Amino acid sequence: MDGKNILIVDDTETNIDILLELLGNKYELLIALNGIDALEILEQEPIDLILLDIMMPDMDGFEVCQHIRSNEKTKDIPIIFITAKSDENSIEKAYKIGGNDYVTKPFKALELLARVKTQLKLRELINHLEYIASHDPMTGIYNRRKFFELAIEKFDYSKEHLFAVMIDIDKFKNVNDTYGHPAGDVVIKSITACIQKTICKASIFGRIGGEEFAILCYKDTQEEVKKQIEFIRSEVEKLEIFTEDGILIQCTISEGIAMATPQTQSIDDLLKVADEALYEAKGSGRNRVIFR
Ligand code: GH3
Ligand code: MG
Ligand code: MG
Repeated sequence: MDGKNILIVDDTETNIDILLELLGNKYELLIALNGIDALEILEQEPIDLILLDIMMPDMDGFEVCQHIRSNEKTKDIPIIFITAKSDENSIEKAYKIGGNDYVTKPFKALELLARVKTQLKLRELINHLEYIASHDPMTGIYNRRKFFELAIEKFDYSKEHLFAVMIDIDKFKNVNDTYGHPAGDVVIKSITACIQKTICKASIFGRIGGEEFAILCYKDTQEEVKKQIEFIRSEVEKLEIFTEDGILIQCTISEGIAMATPQTQSIDDLLKVADEALYEAKGSGRNRVIFR
């Protein structure tokens, strides 16, 4: 077993039996006898690949595929059509609406197995590439590109009660100069972990520069935001960070908060105001939170 869940959608029990026999000892198999049941299973279970029949009563495989592709949660799951339909139009349509592969019945067992493995492997590779493209390798949080992508999405969804926070580690150059660059890296990682533990799950948190971070979140009131951001500052201040040589380093951060208003035109606008607040926090002594 390699821990992958495969959903088989077919209205003919003998077809299902053949697939169970072929795949049952290699993958977790889930069975749906019609399209409606398939979509319901997809809502509830994490599925890695779908084997989809085309000719089924009520909802055919094409329609099931279209539902799967239009749902954010399921849109990327690989789909292999397994069908008795071998005409070119059906094959063309299957790929057009988002099928990844097409196998005609009766199929060759080892060929189908190879195609299943190929699709699972492809999806794994894509997932891996997407992760690398969107996360900062050092801290594991969102990188600048992904932060802005998600921030723009949030802003376009609604700017009401939307807050941006800019965070910068204080006098961080001194840490590098005094303890060396590797120790500086340990500090960045520790502070990131500390902030991540403190913020709520729905917030977007990214590393947008060397020792600069940003948070975007919805909160009901300014007081709530101020309280949480002040809490982050105090938690970082208390943090005891040890280098690989066992040397204790303590650092502080400065934070600038901005609230979106009806006049805020873009996410860049909002972050610019948060950055001005951060600049003011730096200018007025560091280790503090300024709200604009
Ligand atoms: P301020 O309180 O005004 O923010 O002072 P600062 O020293 O923190 O600010 P400055 O922007 O002068 O220095 C930031 C330093 O962060 C400079 C850069 O070498 C260092 N830095 C940026 N990215 C990394 C990193 O990934 N690892 C380490 N160790 N240092 C980094
Ligand atoms: Mg700094
Ligand atoms: Mg900086």
